[in-house]
Amino acid sequence: MLVEIDKQSGFCFGVQNAVEIAEKALLKGERVFSLGPIVHNDKEVDRLSSLGLLSIDHEQFLKLKNCKVLIRAHGEPPETYAIAEDNNIAIIEATCPIVKRLQSKIRETWIRTKKGDGQVVIFGKPGHAEVVGLQGQINNEGILVSGPDDFGKIDITRPVHFFAQTTMSVKEYSNLTDILFAKMEENGIADPGKNLTINKTICSQVSNREPHLKAFAKKHDIIIFVSGRESSNGKMLYSVCKNVNPDTHFVSSMEELDKSWFLGKKSVGICGATSTPKWLIENIRDIISNI
Ligand code: SF4
Repeated sequence: MLVEIDKQSGFCFGVQNAVEIAEKALLKGERVFSLGPIVHNDKEVDRLSSLGLLSIDHEQFLKLKNCKVLIRAHGEPPETYAIAEDNNIAIIEATCPIVKRLQSKIRETWIRTKKGDGQVVIFGKPGHAEVVGLQGQINNEGILVSGPDDFGKIDITRPVHFFAQTTMSVKEYSNLTDILFAKMEENGIADPGKNLTINKTICSQVSNREPHLKAFAKKHDIIIFVSGRESSNGKMLYSVCKNVNPDTHFVSSMEELDKSWFLGKKSVGICGATSTPKWLIENIRDIISNI
């Protein structure tokens, strides 16, 4: 049985950067708190917690004073930084630079278009940490949409500035903006191309994986997709694989592998999300190779 790991799978640049910043901070032997799990992968969170990184939620954060707190790749709203300052908390900044840029862009757009009656619309997952950070830049005035059913929240007669959370599906974003454009045309908006500004904000570390994974999933009899269950791009990239290869299985750990899946199979492809550590993918490869 041929067992192949997808070369592009494993941490994206932003997650790798955050993990390295955490490891460096932990080297000093001091306790470091991470505001939310550093990555949506329990196995990696466990590994870093054994080195001294303690995950806390926002409620626990409010009670902290005089310590160090790491801001993970997803970023945080300005309010978090203000609380840290009030409580003498030293921030270890690990926000992904791509997310930082998106935060600034959304904020600039919001300030600029407020006078011109524009609306900032964000395609994203409600409650997702990155979305909370983005909304925080604009006083939570962004219109959050998850699909066309949410278009009722948008006033299509006014200018719309569309953004996407960095880990959304390119195809879904494109479908969504097409539907909104068509809706503007149907409603007689004079120049929908001018009224609707589409910002290409999906991260290439995610978007490039979509076509690549399609080809990878097609060429194997069975696909093992490794990801934490909370990972937004994990769910999205898994469905990309599942659509082209129905024999795709989602696992978060080696314990979830089922030997019977591999009966009669000649080739296995193993891939994962931008939050899946390479070491976990390789461990899973070793177990499958031994079956
Ligand atoms: S997916 Fe892109 S934007 Fe998100 S953390 Fe990774 S590199 Fe940064």
